[in-house]
Amino acid sequence: MESSVQSQSRLTESAYRSSYIRNGDRLAAILQEMEYLNTIGKSFVAAIDRFQVHRALLAALQKLYSFAACTILLKSDPFELSIIPCYPLSQAFLAAMIERIASAASVMDFPAVSVKELANASYLDAPDELSITQQLDAPVQDMIGGAEIGSFLNIPLTVENRIVGMLSLFDEREGTFDTDLLKLTTMIADYAAVALENVRLREQETALWRQAEIGRQRLELIISSMAEGLLITNERGGITLLNVSAQHLLAQAQLDLKQNTPLRKLALASNVSWLHKLADIIDEALTGVTVMNQELIAGEAGESVPLTLSISAAPLHDASQSQSQPIGVVAVLNDVTANKQIEKLKDEFVSVVSHELRSPLTAIKGYTQHLIRRIERRLRKTQQEHQQQSSAISVVDLPESYDLRSLGIIQSQANHLERLVNDLLDLSQVQWGKLHLQYSSFYLADVLAESIRSAQASAEQHTIYLDIAVQDTKIVADKMRMSQVIGNILDNAIKYSPQGGLVTVKLEEREGDYLVSITDQGIGISQEYLDHIFERFYRVRNTASRQYSGIGLGLYVTKAIVEEHGGHIWVTNNKGLGCTFSFTVPVAAHAD
Ligand code: ADP
Repeated sequence: MESSVQSQSRLTESAYRSSYIRNGDRLAAILQEMEYLNTIGKSFVAAIDRFQVHRALLAALQKLYSFAACTILLKSDPFELSIIPCYPLSQAFLAAMIERIASAASVMDFPAVSVKELANASYLDAPDELSITQQLDAPVQDMIGGAEIGSFLNIPLTVENRIVGMLSLFDEREGTFDTDLLKLTTMIADYAAVALENVRLREQETALWRQAEIGRQRLELIISSMAEGLLITNERGGITLLNVSAQHLLAQAQLDLKQNTPLRKLALASNVSWLHKLADIIDEALTGVTVMNQELIAGEAGESVPLTLSISAAPLHDASQSQSQPIGVVAVLNDVTANKQIEKLKDEFVSVVSHELRSPLTAIKGYTQHLIRRIERRLRKTQQEHQQQSSAISVVDLPESYDLRSLGIIQSQANHLERLVNDLLDLSQVQWGKLHLQYSSFYLADVLAESIRSAQASAEQHTIYLDIAVQDTKIVADKMRMSQVIGNILDNAIKYSPQGGLVTVKLEEREGDYLVSITDQGIGISQEYLDHIFERFYRVRNTASRQYSGIGLGLYVTKAIVEEHGGHIWVTNNKGLGCTFSFTVPVAAHAD
């Protein structure tokens, strides 16, 4: 092995010099040197991994010296030490090398590293025939390397004036590393440093690519296994991604959307109405707005519960540009048909039960009314008899009067129950947009007075005051529904002011509308609940309101009735004492 190494042409400066003297041809020596540098430069450039760099380095150095081994210590964290032997080395020689490298590193201002750490970080980069195991197993006579280091050379590896490592050369013999060749050796070290840095950058880049690829594959897996449909568009609303669930959902709606389909164009060319809505949602999100839970009926109109999708869409922004236009939209499609089916069943159940409750209620109300009339008649008769006999007994003290008051309470409670049942019945009508109004002409003041009379019957602690601030109160509206609206608000005003107090009902005219406001002195409504109390089944759940029974439907139905009449309803807090519910109804006669 050693002879083969030594037989390689050794290129030394003295060789150059002698050739220069011999031929007197300096140009030829320079050309030879350039050719040498060119050759090793090419082999360094061609190296695609650190092992090829090691091979190129060894070949270049062996043209200058005959030596035992070279090593490369890289400053990475942790340190990396590559040992590249020219022939099999003894363990003692290897240990001595590592010791020398550790002390040279400390001289060169490397971060402190112990001999043990270096030994652990070392890697023997040798062809199989020079591998350490073979060295250890080999008979002693086969081992060429001695135990002592005769000479060594340390050269920093620099890239752009930054020390990235250290190249060390070792030999058993003394005086191997000719100082004449130092400049050339440093040049080779520089080549190696740049080549190793390139390899490091390439490895880093490959690792980043691998990581990005793993991330991409994971994301692809998540998207494809999502139960929700995912649709992503570009900045023009063209579909760039549709996951399996989205394709499946759209296929159920007999729609075959493919990637790159421009959604708006497709909508214009098709007669599928919900596709226009979908395109609208995407267009809205493209303006930078996030659209939440928009329901689209994507199934056949004839079906009892058609395929219904709930769609949320958000604009996608380029993270590298702070205030840019959206570069696309990400939309999530949820199949909410099952929820709709349950809702429908629930509405049907509520509607049937309410219907069943209505008949006994009608009977209770009818018979109560009948009894009230009879007792009133009897009381009138008794009163007349007392007046004729000039008796001092007052009818108020008679047991019939007490019965009359009890029947009044039964009647008022039956009315309240009827309103609850009607609210339940109305719920499904409002839900399915079937709240049909029966318009007729009447005086709004009459309806207000009648509702107050009925509410007052069961509200002994309250004083209900009617303030009519308009001359004419004629209106064309649904009379029964109007009294339902006023009754609901009045019921609440009484229910939520348990200490009693004043309830003021005011009727005014404002900008072509009647404005009815009902003010109580009860528990009031905290600011945070004001926006919600008109929602279906919404009830304020704080300590103040928890004790009152209710189902949270009255105001929902009330709002639907007011809006169906073309009016508005709202509530305001009265600074710590009660609240005011106000609603408007247009004065102008109903056009139909
Ligand atoms: P409920 O059957 O619960 O009374 P409503 O729809 O009529 O249902 O009212 C919704 C919620 O609004 C009630 O639960 C209550 O918390 C609140 N609310 C309604 N009216 C009043 C009021 N006059 N004062 C205080 N809270 C009220």
